[in-house]
Amino acid sequence: MPGLGQRRRDHAHGRAGSARPLAPTGHDVRLKDAANGTAPWHALDAGQALARAGVGPEGLSSGEAAARLRRHGPNRLPEAPGRGLLARLRGQFENLLILVLIAAGAVTALLGHWTDSGVILAVVVLNAAIGLWQEGRAENALAGVRRLLSDTASVRRDGRRDSIAAADLVPGDIVLLEPGDRVPADLRLIEARGLRTQEAALTGESAAIDKHTDPVPPDAPLGDRRSMAFSGTLVAAGRGTGVVVATGPGSRIGRIGALLGAVETTATPLLRQIDRFARRLTTVILAVCLLVFGYAVGPGGYEWDEAFLAMVGMAVAAIPEGLPAVITIALALGVQRMAARRAIVRRLPAVETLGAVTVICTDKTGTLTLNEMVVRQVVTAPDRPAAEIGGEGYAPHGTVTGDRSAVAALARTGLLCNDAHLRADGSAWHVEGDPMEGALLALAAKAGLDAETERAAHRRRHEIPFDAAWSYMAVATEGPGGTTLHVKGAPDRLLPHCTRQSGPDGPVPIDRAAWAARIEALAASGHRVLAFAAKPLEGPDGIGHADIAGLTLLGLAGFIDPARPEAIAAAADCRRAGVAVKMITGDHALTALAVAAELGLDTQGGALTGGEIAAASEAELRRMARETSVFARAAPEHKLRLVEALQAEGHVVAMTGDGVNDAPALKRADAGIAMGIKGTEAAKQAARVVLTDDNFASIVAAVREGRTIHDNIRKVIAWNLPTNGGEALVIILAILIGLPLPITPVQILWINMVTAVALGLTLAFEPPEQGVMQRPPRRPGAALLDGEMIWRVALVSVLFGLAVFGLSAWVAARGADLAYARTLAVDLLVVMEIFYLFSVRYLHMTSVTRTGLLGTRAVWFGVALAVVAQLLFTFAPPLQAVFGSRPVSLADGAVVLGIGVVLLVVLEAEKLLRRRGRTVPVA
Ligand code: ATP
Repeated sequence: MPGLGQRRRDHAHGRAGSARPLAPTGHDVRLKDAANGTAPWHALDAGQALARAGVGPEGLSSGEAAARLRRHGPNRLPEAPGRGLLARLRGQFENLLILVLIAAGAVTALLGHWTDSGVILAVVVLNAAIGLWQEGRAENALAGVRRLLSDTASVRRDGRRDSIAAADLVPGDIVLLEPGDRVPADLRLIEARGLRTQEAALTGESAAIDKHTDPVPPDAPLGDRRSMAFSGTLVAAGRGTGVVVATGPGSRIGRIGALLGAVETTATPLLRQIDRFARRLTTVILAVCLLVFGYAVGPGGYEWDEAFLAMVGMAVAAIPEGLPAVITIALALGVQRMAARRAIVRRLPAVETLGAVTVICTDKTGTLTLNEMVVRQVVTAPDRPAAEIGGEGYAPHGTVTGDRSAVAALARTGLLCNDAHLRADGSAWHVEGDPMEGALLALAAKAGLDAETERAAHRRRHEIPFDAAWSYMAVATEGPGGTTLHVKGAPDRLLPHCTRQSGPDGPVPIDRAAWAARIEALAASGHRVLAFAAKPLEGPDGIGHADIAGLTLLGLAGFIDPARPEAIAAAADCRRAGVAVKMITGDHALTALAVAAELGLDTQGGALTGGEIAAASEAELRRMARETSVFARAAPEHKLRLVEALQAEGHVVAMTGDGVNDAPALKRADAGIAMGIKGTEAAKQAARVVLTDDNFASIVAAVREGRTIHDNIRKVIAWNLPTNGGEALVIILAILIGLPLPITPVQILWINMVTAVALGLTLAFEPPEQGVMQRPPRRPGAALLDGEMIWRVALVSVLFGLAVFGLSAWVAARGADLAYARTLAVDLLVVMEIFYLFSVRYLHMTSVTRTGLLGTRAVWFGVALAVVAQLLFTFAPPLQAVFGSRPVSLADGAVVLGIGVVLLVVLEAEKLLRRRGRTVPVA
């Protein structure tokens, strides 16, 4: 279709033809070099660049593009290699516990305890292998999620605008640039309107650089090649078109050796906190071990080597070495689950903050609403009823009531002041471009206008692209009646610039009050309102904001953009979960309030406008931010102020954004969320999370996942620590009382291995607890181990210790030998771990329910593995030889199981007792 392509073609040729040579000599050189193909691209003029790239302004044909793709390969930078195996292996040994173990293995070997030293070394190796495997798993999960975020590029191929994967770009493609885009390949610009790019990625220069299409001297440094746009840089403002001259590794950024997606470290504040905690705990434990060792060889009267082994056993028992790895996995699995719910986590810490979010600030259009616009009403005279527009979606058919010629005049401006295209897909119609502009194309067709004919008769000469800061778009067209300025935009912004309104016999003075009333009425009934105006122009060389004056108002269009049904449900979820929802929109206050009411948001505080936000003092703004849920006519800088005000109020803020100017607010928010579909690359880079479906419901799903992950991490810790605590207690008590150790150091190693491998990970797979979205958000900055958890860890440790001691004493009283008693003690510890696992699965309610006891696949798989391992430990002769275990009787086995059941009952009873009287469980 001519239209956009046609206009751009004229424009490009106009520029190319008028390009001024820099100097006569330079010009000659360029022409010569251009002819033999050695001049650099930036020194060519636009026409020469197109010719050398072998492409016309209509772009490549798809066949040619496919052929070039085969020849040049995909437009992708080489992936950063992961850390080498050796480096990763070394990482496994940078762990205090492992070093302690290696030392212990060496000393035991020196002392001649070959079995012990063999077991210790086997554990070291196994530990490293498990660590490697877990780390690989976590990294794979994250890398897989990152791959979901692929870039797209707007190109012109076969004369039509299309959106393709950036990886499919080939030299010769014509690429269209808009604010916020990441330049997808090296481009020689053939058209630039106010184009500015931010090239920090390439040159380190953070100020945006003006771009134009004139050639620059061949030897210009990179930062001065203003006729080029380089891959990886961001469009800060304006629009442009360029021809691809280099892709992938051949591009500038590729040549400086930049690599794609270097693997992000998996460290998050929480992980670092736990790491620190584990390290501190280790030092304390080692100190205690030394004390106990001193006591054992001194007053305790232990043999030297026996005391040493006991000390090693205790160190191994007490240090929670596996914790950080398991938590990394819990986070990575959470990231995967969030991705399945359409929220891609770009920065791992976001997983933690999402779970703690107390307020979500969200855009309206496309996030809370479907962004499927249709014009329902057109007002062309303030004192006459609106024309009703029929039809469904973007289909260009439907009835129009009222004054058809006045509607057609308005629709013509809507059609010419428009960059969108409608595309039929079978019986369905889709928009390529802004949905509101798509709806205007459908309106024009319903009013009897043919887009191609109109665009051919009224050629676009100049334009002011839409910018949210001005809230309008204007074009100057040249047609049979001369040059005309067409403007469409926010009615409250346009009205002051209109001096006349169109009447049946030509323009008449405007009745602003009457129009204002119509605007309010349309907005209050939930319509998004747009105003249309025009005026004749005297053949200007260009147009600017000063030309938006003395306009004739053609009328108003009222669009309906239905609320997303799932967003209504999600907003209700937020209410129950104690998460406030604030709508921030560029739309009219009344439209915003009507949509907010439809979504069930709190509209009692009315709506505040961007102007009021800007005028408010900091203290006032904090109050407003607290009391108001709807912010209208808001610009990106108002978003930033709001985030800051809410954070000052102690909130953890999630903020959505899509435009290039939203980046500061997205960065500032605790969880910046960019829109994956309509969002710009600049917004995505500033955000920690990207939504692949732009849907508010996905934010709420991510909050739910975030809460679940946090719960699971607490569960992992709550399950791990008592194991360590219980074992350590048993050994300390034994030494203090002067009894033989109820479990030997190698047996402790065995227990820790079995439980870490089989049971430790299962909690990372826990589904959300029921009611996870019915409790208030956790307090920001709350300690991971709150008083309740510390109490529980202590209680379970003591119960573990007492049970093992009790059982050992009972067996000894029966006269059984020590090896038999130790086997039973090991069996008991593993069995208690299994039962405790069931108890810890629910932090907030009792586990003794049908679903609680049914468990998950992961839980049963882990339990089966632990049971088999324990049977082998008890009955298989080779393991008996290594660990000194003995077959136990059925009756004693039953006693061990019985103690496990009693433990579960006691723990659940304690949970219930503590919960009594509390209606809302607190995280
Ligand atoms: P949200 O912030 O919820 O996405 P929005 O799309 O209304 O809302 P903006 O894109 O900032 O926010 O638009 C602000 C106003 O500018 C709109 O309400 C509309 O009146 C006007 N407007 C939006 N798009 C265009 C356009 N393409 N041409 C002319 N005016 C527009």
